[in-house]
Amino acid sequence: MPNGYNGKILRVDLSSGKMAEENPPEIVYRMYMGGSALSLYYLLRELKPGTDPLSPENKLIVMSSVWSGAPLPGLSRYTVAALSPLTGAFGESEAGGFWGPELKFAGYDGIILEGCSPQPVYLWIKDGKAEFKDASGLWGKDTGDVQKQIQEELEDKRIRVMQCGPAGERKVRYACLVNGLSHVNGRTGMGGVMGSKNLRAVAVRGTGKLPLADSEKVREITKTVAELTNQSGMAQYLKKFGTSYLVNPLNQGGGLPTRNFQVGQFEGAVAISGDTMTDSILAGRRSCYACPVHCKREVKVEGKYAASPEYGGPEYETLAALGSCCGIDDLKAIAHGNELCNRWGLDTISTGVSIAFAMECTERGLLTQKDTNGIDLKFGNADGMLDMIHKIAFRQGFGDVLADGVRRAAEKIGKNALKYAMHIKGQELPLHEPRGKKGVALGYATSPTGADHLEAPHDTAFLTSSPILLSANPAGILETVTAADLGPAKVRFFAHAQQIWSFFNSLGMCVFVAAPYSAFPLPMIVDALNAVTGWNASLSELMELGERGITMARIFNLREGLSSKDDTLPERFFEPLEAGTAREKRITREEFAKALQLYYGAMGWDPRTGVPTDGRLSFLGLDWLITQKAGYGGGGEDDQSL
Ligand code: SF4
Repeated sequence: MPNGYNGKILRVDLSSGKMAEENPPEIVYRMYMGGSALSLYYLLRELKPGTDPLSPENKLIVMSSVWSGAPLPGLSRYTVAALSPLTGAFGESEAGGFWGPELKFAGYDGIILEGCSPQPVYLWIKDGKAEFKDASGLWGKDTGDVQKQIQEELEDKRIRVMQCGPAGERKVRYACLVNGLSHVNGRTGMGGVMGSKNLRAVAVRGTGKLPLADSEKVREITKTVAELTNQSGMAQYLKKFGTSYLVNPLNQGGGLPTRNFQVGQFEGAVAISGDTMTDSILAGRRSCYACPVHCKREVKVEGKYAASPEYGGPEYETLAALGSCCGIDDLKAIAHGNELCNRWGLDTISTGVSIAFAMECTERGLLTQKDTNGIDLKFGNADGMLDMIHKIAFRQGFGDVLADGVRRAAEKIGKNALKYAMHIKGQELPLHEPRGKKGVALGYATSPTGADHLEAPHDTAFLTSSPILLSANPAGILETVTAADLGPAKVRFFAHAQQIWSFFNSLGMCVFVAAPYSAFPLPMIVDALNAVTGWNASLSELMELGERGITMARIFNLREGLSSKDDTLPERFFEPLEAGTAREKRITREEFAKALQLYYGAMGWDPRTGVPTDGRLSFLGLDWLITQKAGYGGGGEDDQSL
């Protein structure tokens, strides 16, 4: 009997209605651990390259990890992965809350969803039993109504519901998945994949307990991390303000994306900042499973821009996406927009950046009010932004164009609209100005999922000999590097840091609980993992897990036809910032090309093509992928090699 995990994956064929339990051997759990890497293990074996992401042939993998659900801080997260309908590349997104641990208590470590149901259904899992339930009465409804209806129908208010919203039903390419109404698998369109399968929700309830190899040690570590959290400046900031605390410092440093990334300073920043939110509309603080940090917000607004605490509150990315990026300084309107996205199942980042793109196209004369259904999409128009959220979620009028993401929208608009489409590999940029943080630029460009701000800790964390730097020492990060550097020291820092965050994605660990950002030290994470599982894992094994996950995602994308040409940035970032305190900052094409080559080399990939070498694949235990990188789609379901 394993410790920490169940040893069971549920396979669900929505077309035939058949379900089966699978029991991967322990070595599979040890090598891939969960989340991102374990999802890729299945996708690379089972998904035929070139599959239509919105067809029944795509697979939606929901994966917890070998220790999520253990009573340790930060272990709330789970991954949902598939071929992304937004990027045509590896799609993956993590969410916290309580849904992932509940799946473990219900007896499963993960779910593989395949096929397409002939009619709308939801999946109900309780204590090792799974069944389909009719969802025709849920179709089209807001997430709040659906969650309530499922809990009432099954007569248990403690049931955890993960669902796509009406946007996912309509296959919006950046539809998200929502659990607990405010925790989201936001990026890469996983909600659209769920909706395309006629699956509205997965409801879970479990009363099981996970066996722990050394429960005394687990208790001791939990207590220590709680004490360290109380002493951590970053954790206390997150507790007080949530991630919204970032608005003011980023604005002061000239790195707050404003009006579709045209400038890095917003005159309305203070009005949408964490301080203002805390003093005005904040109604409460929320947490995920077993977390001492409590970074989640609840807001309450009445009147025209009503927002209810049950849908949480805007985090930094949302404040900047629906706020500064659209030139909007009305915090209440942003809070309302955040609620609409959670009600209808839209990723707030892609939604805000898509609307900002349309606003810039409007201001440059590429779109008129006739094109946008009479909505005046000028920067700063809060009501226009909110109207567009509705149109995108329900694919109405011009919303249908934006619902496919800025890359496709720009191609439809034509002229030179692509110049204003802020995306990488088709995914809209998160709200961090890469000209001021060049490690972030490298992360954006090389992320297998398209622009992603959670590829690695951001450059600004390592400017001084702070506790953050010290806590990263065990992973090989020893020196400070300036944010503007994109030379060998930055590439070395980035490659190490990316491996840490990649193994967090496979372990289901929250980056705001763990070092280097926060209080759970890396060596203690290893001790805790061993106390849960009874293994003898080391930090170097986890770093290797991180590298394995990144490399598997690279192979996935090569199979889908992506290449080093896709590891780039929008044109705008090779030009200097025009205004603000970071004025004149830019990334030169030469420094970027050199950094990319160095990074490929550091990863054991061909420095010119970015293709992983056979030797590195073999070193990582991925020799079963050597044939796949050459375009061979094999492996197959019968292939049991590791
Ligand atoms: S720090 Fe925030 S996001 Fe992370 S587990 Fe805690 S409450 Fe959830």
